[in-house]
Amino acid sequence: MPIASARPPLIVARPKGLYCPVGDFYIDPWRPVPRAVITHAHSDHAGIGNGHYLATTAGERVLRQRLGDIPLQTLDYGEPVTHNGVTISLHPAGHVLGSAQVRIEVGGEVWVASGDYKVEPDPTCAPFEPVRCDTFITESTFGLPVYRWQPASELFAEINHWWRTNAAAGRVSVLFCYAFGKAQRILSGVDASIGPLLVHGAVEPLNAAYRDSGVMLPDTQRVADIALRGADKSAYAGALVLAPPSASGSTWMRRFGDYADAFASGWMLLRGARRRRGVERGFVMSDHADWPGLLWAIGETGAQQVYVTHGQTGVLTRWLTEHGIDAHTFRTQYGDEDEGSPVPEAAPANQQVAPRHEAGT
Ligand SMILES: [Zn+2]
Ligand SMILES: [Zn+2]
Repeated sequence: MPIASARPPLIVARPKGLYCPVGDFYIDPWRPVPRAVITHAHSDHAGIGNGHYLATTAGERVLRQRLGDIPLQTLDYGEPVTHNGVTISLHPAGHVLGSAQVRIEVGGEVWVASGDYKVEPDPTCAPFEPVRCDTFITESTFGLPVYRWQPASELFAEINHWWRTNAAAGRVSVLFCYAFGKAQRILSGVDASIGPLLVHGAVEPLNAAYRDSGVMLPDTQRVADIALRGADKSAYAGALVLAPPSASGSTWMRRFGDYADAFASGWMLLRGARRRRGVERGFVMSDHADWPGLLWAIGETGAQQVYVTHGQTGVLTRWLTEHGIDAHTFRTQYGDEDEGSPVPEAAPANQQVAPRHEAGT
């Protein structure tokens, strides 16, 4: 019998979220609680109304950009703090700027809660760092063997080619992507010499938070600022426009005249998902680990016990069990808002839909 299961669990699933009974705090709670450790600022993980927040220094600006003036204590990556006898530290998750895995240690026993993570290099955030532990809590958003991401160099070559071809034809290239994380990763990866980089009003505040945090991004202009100058359609020709998925099919799009559109998400690996989005192109791009990435990350922790949260929990749990790991599922309310799920009708009826922060112009 694994040693971990002989002791009371350091983290349990409660109605308000993942809870550490010894330390009396929550990790990414989906209801307000007195004390919350926040892995990252996506809205299914960082809710409003908590009494106290603990998060990374690297993610402070994006977290405040989204939640405003919160009672926030920050830690550098790897810096320990002790609370109620629990040693807590935060380690890079490679998901978005400031994202962290939460490491908890009590009496020599170590649990790590991953939040969301990816293992591919991403110039806009610190790379995923495997943390040795007895028990690992992993996400499973893309926890099926079919999900395998191509190298970033290939992905950006495809996006650049698409943009360059459209620009040569005098068309605007509109790329729908989540405003926080995905948009900044695209900006940092595309060839900015092809044409102007324009962004929807939901994207620019996050760009500003990234720049203020020291992340290098190419210059961007808000589409609304160009419109204010009274420009006609020719002002947009050849541009790459980044906009949240909610802008698709809206009147906001009319200003671009002749445009090509595309969607960037891990779900674009599925042909049906692209069709439902009604876009010409799909770029397979995710800020979550693919199947090989999940298995690699789990293996690197050395954990004998694994809890699987949001996503393909059943498949991943079964795979781990078949490979000798004591694996279980935690029911959580984390979603895949940052991927723009193409199949909301497939979600369980009782699953709460995370609030979206990408509306507006
Ligand atoms: Zn996330
Ligand atoms: Zn999430």
